[in-house]
Amino acid sequence: MADPYIKDYLMTAGPTPLPPRVSQVMAEPMVYHRAPAFVDIYARALERLRIPFQTANDVLAFASSGSGAMESAVANLVRPGEPALVASCGKFGERWAELCEAYGAELHHYEAEWGTKVDPAEVERRLAESGATVLFTTLSETSTGVVNDVAALTEAAHAHGALIAVDAVSALGAVPVRQDEIGVDVVVAGSQKALMSPPGLGFASVGEAALAYAEESPGRRYYFDWGRTAKGQRKDPPDSPFTPAVGLFLALDVALGMIEEEGLEQVFERHRLLGRATREAVKALELELFGPEDENANVVTAIKVPDGVEGARVPKVMRDKYGITIAGGQSSLKGKIVRIAHCGYFGAFDIVTTIAALEMTLRELGADIELGAGVAAAQRVFLEAGVAAATPA
Ligand SMILES: *Cc1c(COP(=O)(O)O)cnc(C)c1O
Repeated sequence: MADPYIKDYLMTAGPTPLPPRVSQVMAEPMVYHRAPAFVDIYARALERLRIPFQTANDVLAFASSGSGAMESAVANLVRPGEPALVASCGKFGERWAELCEAYGAELHHYEAEWGTKVDPAEVERRLAESGATVLFTTLSETSTGVVNDVAALTEAAHAHGALIAVDAVSALGAVPVRQDEIGVDVVVAGSQKALMSPPGLGFASVGEAALAYAEESPGRRYYFDWGRTAKGQRKDPPDSPFTPAVGLFLALDVALGMIEEEGLEQVFERHRLLGRATREAVKALELELFGPEDENANVVTAIKVPDGVEGARVPKVMRDKYGITIAGGQSSLKGKIVRIAHCGYFGAFDIVTTIAALEMTLRELGADIELGAGVAAAQRVFLEAGVAAATPA
C-alpha cells in the first residue's frame, strides 16, 4: 500500500536536520554585514562558538565547508619541503594527507586500519622518525564511526615539540573536544553536523602557538590566512575581513543558542544515550558493529552488512521505500557497512524509527532479523534513562 504520509528522516552525518527555528531565521531579509543588526549577531555567534570548542580562543570563521577549514590549517601550518605527519584511520583522515601533498609538505602518513583508532605510541614513533613539526589527525572519523583519543595524541605531539591540528568536523557539539583542557593547538569544524546548522561555514579554533607558527611563515594563502581573519575578529566589535555568509551566521547563532540553552553537558549526555541505544539495538539484532564497541563513539554508528545481503541496497531501500536517509560505506567500505548518524538535532525517537525501518529493510533483503528486537533494545536504553520531551518554558 502506498502511504503518502511516510515522512522523511535525515539520519546522515552531514548535512544533518535543522531545528525549525534554525531554518526559519534563514528566511529573514538580508542585512548589510557592517550594520549593527548583523554585527551584533556576528559577535554573539563568534562568542557562542567557544562553547562547543571548549576554548577561550578566537574561533576563526570562513565561508566554506568543513574541508575548507581543514585546508586553512594546512595552508597556515605546512611549509613546503618540510615534514608533516598525518595520522589517519579512515576516509576523512586521508584528506589531511591529500591536503598536505597539495601544499608541498614532505608527507609522512601513518595509516591505521579503518575501523581502528590511531595508536598514540605509533604516532610518537613516527614523530621521532620524521621530525615532523605538525601532526594532523581526526577526532571523530565519520567514515568508520571511530573516535580517537585526542588527549593522548596531543600529549604525543607535544612530547616531540610538534603542534597538533584536529579535524572535529563531525565531533564538535556531539562529543567533548576539551580543546583548552587538553591543549589542542588547532581544532577545525564545520557548521552542518552536530552544530545543527546548514552547510557552508568552516571554523578553525587556533591557539597562540599555532598562530605564531603560522605567522613565522607567511604567504601561499590569502582568504584562509589565519592572521588576517584573527585580526578582524579581534576588533571590537569584530569585523570580518571579507563578507561573511550572513544568512548562515543567523542560522548558526540560533543553533548555538539552542546548545547554550540545553547546556553542553546535557548535549553530550543526549549523544551518549543516542549512541548507546543504537549500539544496543545493533547487538540485539545480532548484527556486528564495525570497529570497537566504544562508549565514546557517539557521533555515528557503523554496522556491518550481514552476509547474504547486498550492502548497497540497504540505504537505497531505507530511503526510497521508508523515507529514511542513512549512509553506506565509503571507498573500501562501500557495500560493507551502513552508518546511522546521531550528531546534532536528534532525539530518542529518531533512533527508534530508524532501527524499525532498518529491521524491515534487512528482513526484506533476506537477512534473518527478528522484527522489534533492535527497537526493544533501544527502547530499554531510553526508558532506563528516563528520556522525556523537555517541558516548554
Ligand atoms: C564531514 C566531514 C568532513 C568534511 O566536511 P565537508 O563539509 O564535507 O567539507 C571532514 N572531516 C570529517 C570528520 C567529516 O565528518
